Amino acid sequence: MDSPDFATLLAALRGLVLRHEDHELLRSWLATVNDAADCIAMIDQAGAEKCCPRCGSARSHRCGRASGLQRWRCIACGRSYNALTGTTLARLRKKECWISYFQCLLDSRTVRASAETVQVHRTTSFRWRHRMVSGFMRERPAHLAGMVEADETYLLESQKGSRRLTRPPRRRGGVASHRGIGRDHECLLVACARGGETLDFHCGRGPVTSAQLGQCLAPVLAPGCTLITDGAAAYPAFSKRHGITHEAIKLRAGVRARGAFHLIHVNGWHGRFKRWLVRFHGIASRYLINYSGWWRVLDARRPDTPAGLLTAAIKAG
Ligand SMILES: [Zn+2]
Repeated sequence: MDSPDFATLLAALRGLVLRHEDHELLRSWLATVNDAADCIAMIDQAGAEKCCPRCGSARSHRCGRASGLQRWRCIACGRSYNALTGTTLARLRKKECWISYFQCLLDSRTVRASAETVQVHRTTSFRWRHRMVSGFMRERPAHLAGMVEADETYLLESQKGSRRLTRPPRRRGGVASHRGIGRDHECLLVACARGGETLDFHCGRGPVTSAQLGQCLAPVLAPGCTLITDGAAAYPAFSKRHGITHEAIKLRAGVRARGAFHLIHVNGWHGRFKRWLVRFHGIASRYLINYSGWWRVLDARRPDTPAGLLTAAIKAG
């Protein structure tokens, strides 16, 4: 650290009157310097008790290091792996920048702003965003218990970024070709338990069907729960088939609540999600579930640190 170059640099820095923006730049640069070793250590730590991703055996021994990471060799199948094998982060480069990038995700920065902060190319920034988000969003509640509010929200289908549109382009964001919810709309189903646990599902295009509810909700609703919905046709049919207690709130008839039965939490979630999405100026439908998963983590504030997100992405793998 005490090379003449550095001493000269430091003296020059001390002689400068630094503006607020300069302080910020220095601080963020220093953070990335600290992050390099920290990040490798965190990755190794998060993957320390990992079973073999190929055969599931827990018996392994240390086998040198590769790409900076501890390598393990499985005693059962003889294959080697590291903490990232089998996760969405496998084979991404520049690990020393990941912690800063996870901070950008916590700050909901755009692809371009994140690329500038971390000093990577925009295409790298885009790839990292979706690989990291699709990693940490996999850590989600296994079940929803007690009173569970469920409702869908719809977003206009978008082929943003696609080179081959399957329909004529829309102008200025555009409007649907028909009134009401139809094949132009992507359906995002959200279910919230009163304890705050939330699950999101992309059901494809058009109004939700009872078969889709069966696929999404049936495996995650705990026995004895009460499902609260707006009473759209698919819900009573689904509830009856699966023997789930169902309470409908007729929002369209102006009813907002019946005692403890209401949809305030799930509709609040929809509103916050859509307001948060505005900053991205439209998202491609094929990434909708990544954005809702990203928002689910931000909204729950769990995890709320870059290290927490990194660990979640590795453990979920
Ligand atoms: Zn193995």
